[in-house]
Amino acid sequence: MSICSCRRSFASALRYDSYYVERCAKALETALYATPAYRQWRVRDPGREHPVFVRLAALPALTKADLRRHGPEGFVPEGRDMARGLASGEIDLAVTSGTTGDQVVNLWYQPWWDATEAATWKLNAHARKVATGSHREAILTSPLCVGVPCEEGYLSTAQRRLGRFLYLSERSDPSTWSEDLMDRMVGEINAFAPVILEANPSFLARLSRHIFRRGLRVHSPGLIVLTYENPSLLHLRQIRRVFTAPIASSYGSTEAGHIFMQCEAGRMHQVTACCHVDFLPFRPEHGGPTLGRILVTTFDNPWRALLRFDTGDVIRLDEGDPCPCGQREGLTLSTIEGRTINLTRTPRGQAVTQGAVDRILAAVDGLVEYQLLQTAAAVYEVRFVAEDAGPSQVAGEVYEALRGLYGPEAQILTTPVAAIAPDPPGKYRLSRTLQPPDADSLLDEQYAPTALYEEGP
Ligand SMILES: [Zn+2]
Repeated sequence: MSICSCRRSFASALRYDSYYVERCAKALETALYATPAYRQWRVRDPGREHPVFVRLAALPALTKADLRRHGPEGFVPEGRDMARGLASGEIDLAVTSGTTGDQVVNLWYQPWWDATEAATWKLNAHARKVATGSHREAILTSPLCVGVPCEEGYLSTAQRRLGRFLYLSERSDPSTWSEDLMDRMVGEINAFAPVILEANPSFLARLSRHIFRRGLRVHSPGLIVLTYENPSLLHLRQIRRVFTAPIASSYGSTEAGHIFMQCEAGRMHQVTACCHVDFLPFRPEHGGPTLGRILVTTFDNPWRALLRFDTGDVIRLDEGDPCPCGQREGLTLSTIEGRTINLTRTPRGQAVTQGAVDRILAAVDGLVEYQLLQTAAAVYEVRFVAEDAGPSQVAGEVYEALRGLYGPEAQILTTPVAAIAPDPPGKYRLSRTLQPPDADSLLDEQYAPTALYEEGP
């Protein structure tokens, strides 16, 4: 007997080639019928007589709580032995701590991760030109995410070299970086001459401000890849002041690999070689139908079947003409709008993304960094760092900009600070509210994922 989910599938309206559709079907079958964590989902499957996107739309979303509940072994497809894989060194365990402090133990299979990264290079002309897989790469991110952490004393260059990689910082909080440490980073970039510089945008922005202020010369790599956090327009501007290299934003997660890559024309394209993305539009009053959330289904990871994984991010579809870069397959985004936990609300209850806050504040002259916290329905507290402009002038412009965004009922409180530290493990949070919104309540119900035990019609 098949159950009608009565859920619409956004993917059904898009054109995909038959190979892609086959891989979606394989991912669905492997997860639902050969992976223990999804056993209870089978009751929601309308059946093989339905198109794969319709079947996917009828299923629940996979959350980080599900990942924790089933553990890494719950997502290993039948026929694989996790204990044996760990013993042989074929796989590893990687613990992620999200910004909400929720820890997930991920089963890590390096060849699959590398393949998803290599797939992103095909989506950007600059990456196609310089990325070979054996290229020199400097990395500037929190050493708590990747690299070699050391908060007391400093490490030598050799201690931060790993194969073709050089990790530029052993310190996880850029707000405490010394001038000497940043001088060292610049010297190392010049000496190492990386082909690609991969960076957390807020970290690279901090270094870029130092380079600009001191008038230093810095080697520009073939490509700067921004990852780990959603770049603020302020950070991008600071980076572009000193680096002439093209910049591409890469979007993914430890759990689901690489999901979107920015092309040379500035749009974000789905990495269709390694994942399917279900788009869940918000209701119109919250910015839908081009704004919404995503669920990611991964392809061909022999050690891990992820189906409709909720990455917790909000994206905006591109509505323009086909992208001049020529990429046509899969979803094209104009922006990643931040995480659902970074959503705030207007005093009247409409959702406001971190991206919307950032676009409005990027126009404020002299603003270097900020962090907005909504503390009550109509109260917004902003800490900010000003440079080359008086704090009171910057505060006034921040106030006006945010009143324009949240409306005249909004109470905006501004506080100048010397620096803003990232949250552990090293990500800046540009906006958030004390009462995180129920992200499910924002969705257009026609597309919302089903619950496991919801009543059929
Ligand atoms: Zn493009």
